[in-house]
Amino acid sequence: MVKDSKAYSAKRQKAIDFATKAHEGQFRNSGDPYIVHPLAVMKIVEDWGMDEDTCIAAVLHDVVEDTPVTVADIKNEFGEQVAFLVDGVTKLSNARSGMRDLDTYLPETKDNLLRLLVAVGSDVRVLIIKLADRLHNLRTLSALPQEKQKKIAKESLEVFAPLADRMNMGRLRVEMADIAFSYVDPKRYNELRVLIDKHAQSAEKTLKKVIEEVSELLTREKIKFEIGGRVKSVYSLHKKLAKHNQNMGEIYDLTALRVIVDDITDCYLAMGLIHSLYTPMSGRIKDYIAVPKQNGYQSIHTTVITKDKQVIEFQIRTREMHEYAERGLAASFYYNEQKLTENYRTGKIQHLPTNLLWITELQAAAAQLREGKKVDLKKLKLNLFADKIFVYTPKGDIIDLPDGALPLDFAYRLHSEIGGHVVGVKINGKMSNLNTRLKHGDIVEVLTSKNQTAKEGWFSKIFTSHARQKLKQQLNKDKES
Ligand code: MN
Repeated sequence: MVKDSKAYSAKRQKAIDFATKAHEGQFRNSGDPYIVHPLAVMKIVEDWGMDEDTCIAAVLHDVVEDTPVTVADIKNEFGEQVAFLVDGVTKLSNARSGMRDLDTYLPETKDNLLRLLVAVGSDVRVLIIKLADRLHNLRTLSALPQEKQKKIAKESLEVFAPLADRMNMGRLRVEMADIAFSYVDPKRYNELRVLIDKHAQSAEKTLKKVIEEVSELLTREKIKFEIGGRVKSVYSLHKKLAKHNQNMGEIYDLTALRVIVDDITDCYLAMGLIHSLYTPMSGRIKDYIAVPKQNGYQSIHTTVITKDKQVIEFQIRTREMHEYAERGLAASFYYNEQKLTENYRTGKIQHLPTNLLWITELQAAAAQLREGKKVDLKKLKLNLFADKIFVYTPKGDIIDLPDGALPLDFAYRLHSEIGGHVVGVKINGKMSNLNTRLKHGDIVEVLTSKNQTAKEGWFSKIFTSHARQKLKQQLNKDKES
């Protein structure tokens, strides 16, 4: 790679010296000299395989915000691209400081969002530096006062980890979410940690045997493969349990086996062979190779029952898919560095995997904003929060709901009185069924009647625990009266 060149190591050293001098006399809460932080952030993006300019900008990312150094100084010393990236990270921090919590990220606060759009959308690398910055701050969070720990951890769970997920940076998402969750809810974190470790221990023997059996069969069939276990992360278990009413029986992928093969044909062959060994559970085969997840994730998932009645999930994918699942957007920089750099130079919009089109959309919007054109934000499918949707009341108020929410969830969110009297719903002006899953950007109008009362049968038309609770209360009340 270009980065191994002599020219790069000279430039790298120059940037380190420059940042060290700029931050001289500044210290972190831990007592370490401040430069420790930018150095660590540079190391992170280097490990992600990012391009030269991103790595240089990473070590300089805090100088404009925290020292007298200006963007112009950086441009003089390190060129336009690096200056542009550092400027973007600085703007992003400024835009963020006006946002108290998740709600202020909503399209209502146009000004902040516009700034965020311009800063982020113009170059995804800005966002990647910001994610590396946040990752290191999380890793060193214990040095901060408790109140600040909670605030940063919460924001990481609500904004940055979902963002990492949208960019399919799986390894980053898992690390961020687990550290953050351990600060947000330490009790729950420890409970689940113990549970996962116990399960991993008790499953070890079975897994070993299964690995042996599968390896033998794949070898016999001349399929080249690697196989290994993966344990579910604490935060994703927490989220999954919330979705399944805390029922551990619904969690089939606490431990999973990953099979990595050479090409797509081998993925399907391997699946077939595994199914010939163990009984697949019906309805538990997911082909994310044919239909990738929104963030570009590809893999075949299948849950099987072993000969000693153990339930195991297999994840089968090619090496390339694996690489992309772990490193996401950063991986495509590694493979496309030349092309991407060329695009920045010529100001062309970046070429990205089709599944990351939301970034292209952001960039197009940012370009329009820079030209002073108006952008209708509501038309943008700007849903940075992977598991949230934003829907509108007919008056234009924004209600955020988890992805999967139904009209009754919306009604109960407005008010339990409204929820309890629903007779119908209009979605985007059309009469719709109460089973209709709400989509990001829908305008939802609930129709109510005084004579209507809450119904037992509504439980099956509800997704959120909030609405379920409200309905339960109403039904109990009705029984009493
Ligand atoms: Mn920083």
